[in-house]
Amino acid sequence: MPLAAAIRTIPDYPKKGILFRDITTLLGDARAFRKAVDELVQPWSGSKMDKVAGMEARGFILGGAVAHQLSAGFVPIRKKGKLPHKTVSISYELEYGTDEMEMHEDAVSPGDRVILVDDLIATGGTAEGAIGLLRKMGAEIIAACFVIDLPELGGAKRLEALDVPVRSLVTFE
Ligand code: 5GP
Repeated sequence: MPLAAAIRTIPDYPKKGILFRDITTLLGDARAFRKAVDELVQPWSGSKMDKVAGMEARGFILGGAVAHQLSAGFVPIRKKGKLPHKTVSISYELEYGTDEMEMHEDAVSPGDRVILVDDLIATGGTAEGAIGLLRKMGAEIIAACFVIDLPELGGAKRLEALDVPVRSLVTFE
C-alpha cells in the first residue's frame, strides 16, 4: 500500500479551509509505520549519525524510531518552558506572529552530525527554527526528513537555501 493511502485528510481542521493531514492513521498501521521509518533513514543506513532531533510533538514519535534505526541519540526540540534543564531558545515564524522553541544547551556537541525529523513541512518556519538552534550549538545538519511535504508552501526550497538537504516521502499539492 502506498504511504499516502495511510494518511487521513481532515477538512476544516484546525480551522475552516485547512486540509489537515493526519498521520495518526499511518502510525497506527504497523506496516505503514515501519515503511515510513525505513524510507526516512534509507540514505543514511550504515553511515555514522550522532543525533536525531525531533520537533514537538509528532516529530518525537518519528524521530525516536529513526534514532533507534540509526543507532543515534535523540534530541527533543520543544515549545518554550517544557524542558527541565538549561536551554537555548530561538523564535520562529508561525502563520500569524512568532513563537519560541527550545533545546537543552548540552543536547548536541560542536561537530555532531544531526538529522532533523518532523511529520510534515509546510512553510518551513518550524524546521528553520530548529536548524537555527542546532547550528547555534555547533551541530552539522546532515538533512531534514519529513513524511509529508506540501510543496506549494515552499518549505523544502527554504531549507535548501539554508544548505540543508530535504527528504520527504509523500507530497500533497
Ligand atoms: P511549517 O512550520 O513548515 O509551516 O509547519 C510545519 C509544522 O506544523 C510541523 O511541526 C507540523 O507538525 C505542523 N503541521 C502543519 N500542518 C499540518 C498538517 O496538515 N498535518 C500535520 N500532521 N501537521 C501539520
